[in-house]
Amino acid sequence: MLLEVDDIHVHYGKIEAIKGVSLQVDAGEIVTLIGANGAGKTTTLKTISGLRPLTSGRVRFDGQDISRLAGHRRVMVGIGQSPEGRGVFPGMTVTENLMMGAYTRKGDLSKDLDEVFELFPRLAERRNQAGGTMSGGEQQMVAIGRALMSKPKVLLLDEPSMGLAPMLVAQIFTIIKEINNRGTTVLLVEQNAQQALQLAHRAYVLETGRVVKSAPAADLLDDPQVRAAYLGGE
Ligand code: ATP
Repeated sequence: MLLEVDDIHVHYGKIEAIKGVSLQVDAGEIVTLIGANGAGKTTTLKTISGLRPLTSGRVRFDGQDISRLAGHRRVMVGIGQSPEGRGVFPGMTVTENLMMGAYTRKGDLSKDLDEVFELFPRLAERRNQAGGTMSGGEQQMVAIGRALMSKPKVLLLDEPSMGLAPMLVAQIFTIIKEINNRGTTVLLVEQNAQQALQLAHRAYVLETGRVVKSAPAADLLDDPQVRAAYLGGE
């Protein structure tokens, strides 16, 4: 297993947001975490990337216990994250934003930059535009491209389709598939359960800080409970 989350508990003050979550992601997979608002999806991703401390439990990555490793060190071992809300630096150009993703790396990064521009032709066209003036969908592309510039083994994506028009949602999902085809493992958090389950190999359903189901994604598309709760009915 590339990534193993083992019985993690995470608190915000006295409130226990994550109450013993375990999940695994194998190299090459796309795994999705679905669940209602507040279920703990974002917190789970932040705990994996080191942005939230865990109270107990363990996160293993590539054979190493990284539970207490600082966030920037996790980037260095191969965990890349595109955060919810994107966090694009508004005053920096698209290229400068992308280069920020490579801050832990040395050497010639032009080839990697070209690869990102190949995945996102829109960013290539607008490479000198200020990040803050890019549209919502374009900023989402910048955030994903920036995470890719760290050359992650696993890419953590938090709600990449949030706030996007349907056509752009389809585009982002196609690009995630392409990123995976090129060899990057993906852990995807999505409200858009239907499309996430169509894209992913496996899925976990989170409810109030616990995993209540895990299965091949295709099985969950046919699961009556999942359909009723997350896929808008029958
Ligand atoms: P959403 O889809 O709405 O983003 P989520 O599944 O990602 O939801 P989290 O953001 O992980 O859920 O939140 C899990 C729980 O932790 C929620 O009850 C939330 O209110 C709480 N929580 C999240 N961030 C904080 C914070 N900074 N301080 C206090 N409580 C928090």
